[in-house]
Amino acid sequence: MKDDNFLRANNARHMFHPMGHPGDALAHAPTIITKAENSSITDIDGHQTVDAVGGLWCVNLGYSNNVVKEAIAKQLYDLPYYSAFAGTSNPAAIEASYAVREFFEDDGIGRVFFTSGGSDSVETCLRLARQYHRIKGEPGRTKFLSLKKGYHGTHFGGASVNGNNRFRVNYEPLMPGCFHLPAPYTYRNPYGETDPVFLAQNIAAAMEDEILFQGAGSIAAFIMEPIQGAGGVIVPDASFMSLMREICDRHGILLIADEVITGFGRTGDWSGSRHWGVKPDMMCTAKGITSGYFPVGAALLSEEVAQVFETADETGAIYHGYTYSAHPVGAAAVTACLSETLRLDTRTNAAARGTQLYEGMLKLAEKYDFIGDVRGGHGLMTGVELVSETINKTPMDMETMKRVHKTAYDNGAMVRLGGNNILMSPPLIITEAEVDQVISALDKGFAEA
Ligand code: PMP
Repeated sequence: MKDDNFLRANNARHMFHPMGHPGDALAHAPTIITKAENSSITDIDGHQTVDAVGGLWCVNLGYSNNVVKEAIAKQLYDLPYYSAFAGTSNPAAIEASYAVREFFEDDGIGRVFFTSGGSDSVETCLRLARQYHRIKGEPGRTKFLSLKKGYHGTHFGGASVNGNNRFRVNYEPLMPGCFHLPAPYTYRNPYGETDPVFLAQNIAAAMEDEILFQGAGSIAAFIMEPIQGAGGVIVPDASFMSLMREICDRHGILLIADEVITGFGRTGDWSGSRHWGVKPDMMCTAKGITSGYFPVGAALLSEEVAQVFETADETGAIYHGYTYSAHPVGAAAVTACLSETLRLDTRTNAAARGTQLYEGMLKLAEKYDFIGDVRGGHGLMTGVELVSETINKTPMDMETMKRVHKTAYDNGAMVRLGGNNILMSPPLIITEAEVDQVISALDKGFAEA
């Protein structure tokens, strides 16, 4: 390993960072994280903070889970790689597929298609949704509906259903046939509706209207996050997802739940869909499936959808997959991670600590009038939206946002900025004292702003 001087001198010199301006990375050295333990991270200067980001909404078990680490190490020695393309398999993948299916049994999940991450899982669901309709004799069902503010990764299909302009505009034209409905975002929406129940009904009406306009027979699937993450932690009314489910059912449209963030306990239950009492037709997962220890995702199919493929003629053959689908080392990480997730019952702590963090932010909102909106209350996903004035809800400028971020970091909490939102998604094993530390560090950050 090169020494610290080498690392500082070469920081961002040879690497383009994802989701950032390469020039910025040269001008403002990215923080080099060198070590991590439980819910804390340490940077190259030896400064330790609570990781209120959980890596990137993913390190659900924290950084010190030796069961997962040992499973990965052992698998590297037993079988570091073999392909799972038609004709071969491996023991780790067989065991992992069993574990994932069992984990999501109550969500009606019947089969698992392994991928290398969230964007792959989204792409897999979108492609299999079209194929599902083709098998069923409806090849005209090719379009997709989604929500504004949604985030579905960066592949072309996912970016096309993405609902944030920022992730789309540089890469247009995107995939045709994708249409976006308003987000269940009470703080800002085209109806000026602040009541979450009425907003849910307005969006349902807009969805019906769009389906009528496009023709139901042209739509393959509707994709949504049970709680929108990267878009700013947008929590819909409890009725919202089941309204969407009912409309999809009535029009033969598949419902894809993008559970890349919300899966595996983050919302206080094992899936976000379950939280809202909905069984999706397909689920996109990643992140918490290995707690970020190995890049794995999975597209999950309901029993009914799976059987359509299994019993089909040649149209059921899936000409889609990744070199690293069902990677044995990733698969070993999945099995160990799910067993630890269940053993530690992480959803219960996520619910309790999530309430503590959310209430802490609500208290800060009484103190600082530039906090326009606080969102969360369902597990460890919390968003705080800052505005420079409250009447027009003008988004806070980025300079101030960065000052809040830096002051919070200096005072013991790594948070994430998503535009004018502060986003938090700490490990699900975070302690009460650590949540207090995050609240107090942000208090200092807001005072600085
Ligand atoms: N879907 C959702 C809901 C996500 O939050 C993310 C990543 N934050 C993705 C998809 C894409 O996952 P990945 O970055 O692993 O490709």
